[in-house]
Amino acid sequence: MQTELADFIRDTPAGKEAEEILRKCVHCGFCTATCPTYQLLGDELDGPRGRIYLIKQMLESGEASAKTRLHLDRCLTCRACETTCPSGVQYGRLLDIGRVVVDRKAPRHGSDALKRSLLKHFVPRAGLFGPAMKLGRLLRPLLPAVLRAKVPPAHAAGVRPPVRHRRRMLMLEGCVQPATAPNINAAAARVFDRIGISLVAADKAGCCGALRFHLGDVAGAQQEARRNIDAWWPLLEAEGEAVVMTASGCGVQVRDYAHLLQDDERYAAKAARVALLTRDVGEALAAESARLLPLLAAAGARRGKARLAFHAPCTLQHGQQIRGVVEQLLATAGFELTPVADSHLCCGSAGTYSLLQPQLATRLRDNKLAALGAGQPQGIASANIGCITHLQSGTQLPVRHWIELLDERMN
Ligand code: SF4
Ligand code: SF4
Repeated sequence: MQTELADFIRDTPAGKEAEEILRKCVHCGFCTATCPTYQLLGDELDGPRGRIYLIKQMLESGEASAKTRLHLDRCLTCRACETTCPSGVQYGRLLDIGRVVVDRKAPRHGSDALKRSLLKHFVPRAGLFGPAMKLGRLLRPLLPAVLRAKVPPAHAAGVRPPVRHRRRMLMLEGCVQPATAPNINAAAARVFDRIGISLVAADKAGCCGALRFHLGDVAGAQQEARRNIDAWWPLLEAEGEAVVMTASGCGVQVRDYAHLLQDDERYAAKAARVALLTRDVGEALAAESARLLPLLAAAGARRGKARLAFHAPCTLQHGQQIRGVVEQLLATAGFELTPVADSHLCCGSAGTYSLLQPQLATRLRDNKLAALGAGQPQGIASANIGCITHLQSGTQLPVRHWIELLDERMN
């Protein structure tokens, strides 16, 4: 695609990156067929190719309209289009650039601006989010439906094993997950403990920065990345082999620290090292197959078969390009995975999307639940707290993180 970017951006790092991405796109439209919002709305501008045109137009003219913002806002950032694209167009990066520019050129006002500001300042702070979740549980029947769906009943975390093994890996606790489903991190710690690895949490680490980043607050996301790097660095230098992510949404963000801090002289090298050592929990376990698989096979034989539908989050299958790894672990542990049609499609959770675009998110959730339920599973498993909460709000079937199921099987 030929481009002639406007002066305001042409010679900036973002402009150069955008230009390189735009030049790769050959307008073939293959990506459109796998885009969830195009499938729902049938409008070219609600598909990747249309959004690429809108971003190009904005970067060339230096002007943005409410229409540009609307179509960019409706994008889930699921990156299914990247998986489909034969030309390697990094749509996600282009969208990140486009969103920052649109916010600058066509600023938000009123309730839209307020909602985003509240989300940005409130959700990533575990110290605020935890008490709010407790209060939300007390007031659950009085909450509006869109918020009620984000307040699941309380679950006990169970016992977390002491740090006792020579082999150690860091684990990001996250901001939303400890208050929403504390058993996920505890279950991960128990599974790793059984194979001789202690998962260690760094007290001063916090939100991965994804939420702020996707709400256009790049400086805030960079600050969160620096804080996490500072918290992890002494442990990584001393003994930590990897940084394990139990939420795939955090995993994709922390892997991107290298890019996020590439122009920061003090942090660029550390960020690149952290990104390199970041592992999704499934990936980290699969690398320990010699010790893990016999335990899983024994657990499967002891517990018998159970029918399970697995929903691979977009941040796992498209963002991190990890496919089939979790499924293999679950199958070894005796789960019979039911077929799921259109498994590449997003469930509608997508970070804050289900709060900012509730109608589209609910339609995507209901379509996803129909596909997950088609094989008559006894439960649903996923790998990201956002997807788990969002899916659970629309079904009576239990929706759990797969690591919890593995932990229960091994008990
Ligand atoms: S990221 Fe997802 S929703 Fe956005 S254009 Fe690509 S496929 Fe469509
Ligand atoms: S599939 Fe890739 S090259 Fe084709 S239109 Fe989509 S982004 Fe452009």
